[in-house]
Amino acid sequence: MRGEELVVNEALKVRALPEGGCDYLLEFLRLYRDAVQIIVDRIWDIDEKLSWKKLHRLFYSDLMRLGFRAHHAKEIYVNAKSLMDSAKGNSGRKPVLRKLSARIDKYDYKLDLDNMTLTLKLHNDYEARLKLIASRERVEKFRSWSNYELVVKYEDNEFWVSIYFKRAVRPLEPRTVMAIDLNFDNVTLAIYTLDGRRVRLKKLKTPHKKILTHKIWVERIQRKYPKSWRFIKSVRRAIEKHGERIKNISWDYAHKTGNTIAKLASKHGSVIILEDLEKLKENNKKGRRFNKRLGLWFYRRIQFCVEYEAMERNLQVAKIDPRGTSSKCPRCGGKLVEYGYRVLRCRKCGFIGDRDVTATINIYEKYVSKYSRCGVSGVAPNAPKPDEAPSGMQGNKNEAMTTES
Ligand SMILES: [Zn+2]
Repeated sequence: MRGEELVVNEALKVRALPEGGCDYLLEFLRLYRDAVQIIVDRIWDIDEKLSWKKLHRLFYSDLMRLGFRAHHAKEIYVNAKSLMDSAKGNSGRKPVLRKLSARIDKYDYKLDLDNMTLTLKLHNDYEARLKLIASRERVEKFRSWSNYELVVKYEDNEFWVSIYFKRAVRPLEPRTVMAIDLNFDNVTLAIYTLDGRRVRLKKLKTPHKKILTHKIWVERIQRKYPKSWRFIKSVRRAIEKHGERIKNISWDYAHKTGNTIAKLASKHGSVIILEDLEKLKENNKKGRRFNKRLGLWFYRRIQFCVEYEAMERNLQVAKIDPRGTSSKCPRCGGKLVEYGYRVLRCRKCGFIGDRDVTATINIYEKYVSKYSRCGVSGVAPNAPKPDEAPSGMQGNKNEAMTTES
């Protein structure tokens, strides 16, 4: 987990203008497509497993004869095989290729980001030079990355290039731990020092209620036209409109939240701890905590943005099993029960705490007990003492943890 190198991949898709005509490039794309098709046709009925080696033996010399370069050939049969595999997995129908698109290995192109040009090596030693159309800002961040592959496409009379970049990331050593609790009403984040003192607490209200309103509208419409809603244009439109709103609201929120969280984590040098939503699904089939009507998709979207923004800043992200994070006493492990609005109380030891804040303590604890052995130094094995908590307290009185004796 810690200090390991991660590889981050990202594609840059830009429009490209061929310099001095596009005849050879189009010819190449057609030849490439037809070659992939021929291979798909020939391997479709072969039942045995096809290794790369075997594909190479079967098709390499034929492709060379068509004028392709060595790495073109490799890309072509790799492409054909993956097309076949996914077609067999999905529809079971043999794919018929129409679109013009070619995957090209780094040995067969030269990318010049300073001048925004791309030179492609084509069949029969032809070359194509393309001018890439993209703003400086979009390209800037990729300058320090390496690129290893690209895809050229021709659609609607335009050429598009997707360039695949990667970079190695060595995550920063965390100085603090940021625990994040996602629930229906808010996203609660709390930053703890490695010895368990809370230094920051923030709650971000979720737009769940707004999303739910649109969902209810959709359901109402569908109930009114139970059989026909799919076929009446105006009804379908209305449903689409609400769906569009839900999409915008949720992505907007996810982007903002991801950004806020990563910025704070960066400022405090935090490792970000999220709950593993896949485990949550297994643990909590009834979906009591994560409202069923909204599903996990919204939380996934938020986590996706958090992880993305964290990666951009070289921050570590870890996931813990969410079992018990909102129902166990962080002090004695006893069961917590409701004690007024959004407050929980432990019957065994009298611990009282805000529901969301308590969840962050448990999340922090889980992370510490899972990872402390593999390196986070100076981590206290015990939970932060509840009476120490108000030092980092922000927000209303309700959020403070108090003890009752
Ligand atoms: Zn307790």
